Amino acid sequence: MTTCLAIANQKGGVAKTTSVASLGAALAELGHSVLLVDLDPQACLTFSLGIDPEDVEVSVHHVLTQGVDPGGVVVDTEDGVALLPATIELARAEADLLTRTGREHVLRGVLEQLAEGDRHYDWVLLDCPPSLGVLTVAALTAADGVVVPLQCETLSHRGVGQLLDTVHDVRRFTNRSLEVWGVLPTLYDGRTNHARTVLETISETYDLDVLEPPIPKTIKFAEAPAAGRSILATARRTKGAEAYRAVAQSLVARAAR
Ligand code: ADP
Ligand code: MG
Repeated sequence: MTTCLAIANQKGGVAKTTSVASLGAALAELGHSVLLVDLDPQACLTFSLGIDPEDVEVSVHHVLTQGVDPGGVVVDTEDGVALLPATIELARAEADLLTRTGREHVLRGVLEQLAEGDRHYDWVLLDCPPSLGVLTVAALTAADGVVVPLQCETLSHRGVGQLLDTVHDVRRFTNRSLEVWGVLPTLYDGRTNHARTVLETISETYDLDVLEPPIPKTIKFAEAPAAGRSILATARRTKGAEAYRAVAQSLVARAAR
């Protein structure tokens, strides 16, 4: 059984990519096999796992738009997770896919193709771009669940409604079994009551579960991408790393339900 989660929020800078890299590394530490898929043309996930997008010749773009075999594109990383890397070429994929019939299902098809090969993954985590375009809809269509990283600041709820509308449409038209696994509070400053109030308002307004514990704001996260490893390797015992480990365990518990 593979559990596929889309990490989505159309707002940039809410720690989608950081969460994908860190949760992936944490699941790998727990002995699970993990595939991460970089769906953002900025290729930050690819870069942060130690792979220079400039050196990548075939990427997720070719897999999605030209039918290239994904098995030949997946690379192993030092974090112990497999990666379907992106390059800036992915910026063209939205336009290339826009007129294609079945575009919402293109990623689901790619993951099925991988599953038919000799690679099995317990987890597939999809790093969505900061938009609600074709790539995010394709990710939601391929996923069993969606996790919404959220920086708990005053206006962060405005995007959540739009994202949930998209989830609702995906459920109606392309993926009836998609479930919202919850919001993941990120860049969390526990010293202020403000963050907790915002979080409570959002979870009540939209009736969403909150994944615990919140991921604290710490400078260590900013340093990790340059090292080409996730924070779980560069700052093993920090609060941030431990928080991601705890969230990973709660994901495992939910998947086993
Ligand atoms: P997104 O993918 O949603 O755009 P990123 O994961 O790229 O967001 O994170 C945005 C920025 O915030 C990055 O510079 C990242 O290093 C930083 N960051 C992420 N999580 C934390 C954290 N818990 N504490 C401090 N900085 C963080
Ligand atoms: Mg990102």
